[in-house]
Amino acid sequence: MAEDNLKQARTLRHIIVGGGMAGILAAIKLKEKGEAFILFEKADKLGGTWRDNRYPGLTCDVPAHAYTYSFEPYAEWQKFYATGEEIRVYFEKTAKKYDVLQHMRFGCEVTSCTWDDEKSVWQVGLANGEVHEADVVTAASGVLHHVTMPDINGLNDFQGDIVHSARWDDRVKTDNVRVGIIGNGSTGVQIVTALQKTASQVVHFQRSPQWIMPVPQFDYSDEEREAFRKDPALIDAIRNNPDYWASIYRFTAAIMNVDGDELAEVQKICEDNLNNSVTDPVLREKLRPDYRVGCKRLIYSWCYYDAVQQPNVDVEREGISHIEANGVRLKNGALIELDTLVLATGFQADRFIRPTVVLGRNGKSLDDVWQPTPTAYFAVTIPEFPNFFMLNGPSGPVGNFSLIDIAERQWDYIEQVLAPLRAGDAAQVAPSVEAHQDFEKRRADAARKTVFGSGCSSWYLDATGVPATWPWSYQDFADAMANPDFDAYIYQ
Ligand code: NAP
Repeated sequence: MAEDNLKQARTLRHIIVGGGMAGILAAIKLKEKGEAFILFEKADKLGGTWRDNRYPGLTCDVPAHAYTYSFEPYAEWQKFYATGEEIRVYFEKTAKKYDVLQHMRFGCEVTSCTWDDEKSVWQVGLANGEVHEADVVTAASGVLHHVTMPDINGLNDFQGDIVHSARWDDRVKTDNVRVGIIGNGSTGVQIVTALQKTASQVVHFQRSPQWIMPVPQFDYSDEEREAFRKDPALIDAIRNNPDYWASIYRFTAAIMNVDGDELAEVQKICEDNLNNSVTDPVLREKLRPDYRVGCKRLIYSWCYYDAVQQPNVDVEREGISHIEANGVRLKNGALIELDTLVLATGFQADRFIRPTVVLGRNGKSLDDVWQPTPTAYFAVTIPEFPNFFMLNGPSGPVGNFSLIDIAERQWDYIEQVLAPLRAGDAAQVAPSVEAHQDFEKRRADAARKTVFGSGCSSWYLDATGVPATWPWSYQDFADAMANPDFDAYIYQ
């Protein structure tokens, strides 16, 4: 780029990868800024996780009014915790309202992003052979996206219906049949509670039990929705409810201090929930985890313990030997006969934008840089990958709070980091290697001491066993996003 061009304010050209919650957010923000952008989405419609996940019982465990963009409150929620379908509709309506659909191209898989250091641009290649040039790439490609199939022998031998929770197929039979659900994360728990009502028998295969946080669920009435429509301040009052935010701050304090009062308080709530809700002592002990509360992502449920005490539900803790034509063979030799098998076995949480091939300065491959585990400076940027940003990238905050709020704060950070490029003061920006190394060392040291590292398996752990998470408080995260450390960035 010529020197004299650099001195002028300029309108950047952006490519956004992914049309889920974070990609729609970036699109809306760029539209407001009046910048040129294209959003590429490989599926045929937007919605990300809320498009992919359609399993029975799907709800979001963040209160609905807190699970919206801050600039787009929504009066129409039917329940305190919204269903997945309602949330998908919310994103569709919002994208339409903010007129960003015209910038989205569906059925377009981004297969490569290649940095041209000479021209300070990204060349973005699509599966259909097209190549598009952009000054800035934002990867809004999701976290829990690539499914994990369980490493259990005989999956292909099963003669009944078999489906992964994130690839739900409406043809799968679940009414008046015997259904087995493998997996005991948020997903497995929600499916069990839903199918208990329709299946003749439900067997919940639990490799590890989970702590369950009791939460209320209730319907909003027509009158309440009408009141929300007339007075959005009522929505703000729910969204900004001090109790809700206090619970987030308490939760992140608990995560950081495994010996602290906050974690003990959460532990007691979950233990009381188990002890007071499950009457059969044998079942109660089957359901009792042997690790600290919060080590795995907490399950929020108002109905799981009730569901597993119904006569048509069995909790199976015996290990699985293999799958056979008629069902699941346990390690003790027993065969559990089933008509349908649901695999609620989670996701490969370390993929991020991969398998897209991302090549930074000097052809450096992101896949190589991310061996053995993905990292990012403050979860957003990567040295040697200029003008490349991630929403909900590696080591961001995780917990039972809104990823929308996280993405909005990350976008504010990105805007600030981009400002000198818009002003024409620079054509490229990336964090320095040293700043990233220093950050990552501090982060990993702190992460090892969090409850996530206190002795359990979970998708929070990276390939080396270190929690791949934001290890400090939510307030620390909010402050970091509001005030980028510009000294860590190299502008050129
Ligand atoms: P997950 O939390 O990773 O749980 C996977 C489950 O599958 C675990 O119970 C795991 O057992 C089990 N599993 C994996 N391989 C197995 C095998 N070979 N044999 C037996 N069991 C096996 O996945 P998820 O439930 O889909 O949830 C992932 C994340 O999605 C959640 O943590 C949450 O962030 C998000 N989510 C959110 C909501 C919401 O309401 N907002 C709802 C659903 C999901 P082990 O524990 O023993 O490894």
